[in-house]
Amino acid sequence: MMIETTELSGVYKISVPTPFPVGAVNCYVIEGEPLTLIDVGPKTEEAVVTLRNRLDLLGFDFSDIEQILITHGHIDHAGLTASILENSGAAKPVIRIHSRDAERILDNDGYINRRMKAYLDIVKSSGVPNEFYSYYNHERLVRYFSPLGASVKSVTNISHGDTIETGIGFLEVHHTPGHSMGSVCYLHHESNTMFSGDTLLKDISSNPSLSFDENELSLSFYLRSLESLQPWDHYTVLPGHRHSIDKASQRIEELQRDYHQKRDVVLGLIDTSPHTVYQVSRMLFGEYPVESMVLALAETRDYIRILEKDRTDIIINEVNGVYTVSRTYV
Ligand SMILES: [Zn+2]
Repeated sequence: MMIETTELSGVYKISVPTPFPVGAVNCYVIEGEPLTLIDVGPKTEEAVVTLRNRLDLLGFDFSDIEQILITHGHIDHAGLTASILENSGAAKPVIRIHSRDAERILDNDGYINRRMKAYLDIVKSSGVPNEFYSYYNHERLVRYFSPLGASVKSVTNISHGDTIETGIGFLEVHHTPGHSMGSVCYLHHESNTMFSGDTLLKDISSNPSLSFDENELSLSFYLRSLESLQPWDHYTVLPGHRHSIDKASQRIEELQRDYHQKRDVVLGLIDTSPHTVYQVSRMLFGEYPVESMVLALAETRDYIRILEKDRTDIIINEVNGVYTVSRTYV
């Protein structure tokens, strides 16, 4: 595989492999001063080799990178940051990440530990049958995920509205919480292009309910984030996975339509007899594999919580730590 050019001159895409079902992550090299990398990939040998070889084809090595812009702190996008720093010689690149995701790369092991505990919590509070618990064994998951990232000592926090200098001109930081609470899009107004991270992906879901451990309705944040991108919805999108999107509006409208449809389906599934979140998730998504269970539960729970907030006839109850939902016909 060779280096791929992008819609934007001076910007190259490097597909870095990940061990996850989503496949490769897109990292973008922005030529010029300061030499910039958007996202870096997970901490695997394959990812390091791929990134190093592709940079080499462009005439660069790790020590040339002056700036790393992280779209969000997920391990498939940011896990390799510490390794790049280790290999970058005396002049370390600046690492820019939104403050809400900074913890993920400042304390990799602590974060993974808390996150995996949250996975097990949602499995239990959703009323999942015991037979599935072994997959969500805390130690097993920590052992798998922790080595895919590593902590860095310091980062530079970015906020909504910041402008960042790159070789192709300024990028504006647009905070789009939802997929993670610190997700950002980088807007290049000169060329009508946005680097969207996982906030907008072409044919796959952005999993907007993943931030469930923060006790926040991340799906609601995500919907507001989509709305907030509307002034730039004619922009070309260079996303965090797979192919670019000609016009952001196409995808934004599709995602909004999907949301309304699914919310109505969930409403139709709720009746006067209480159902657990797990039961509703099975009715909504069918026989999904155990690896997708947390995602299915988190998304189902978000729909239920949104419905409960918006309507007076939806009741959430908690018995022995397990949540059920029912509907009173008023
Ligand atoms: Zn992600």
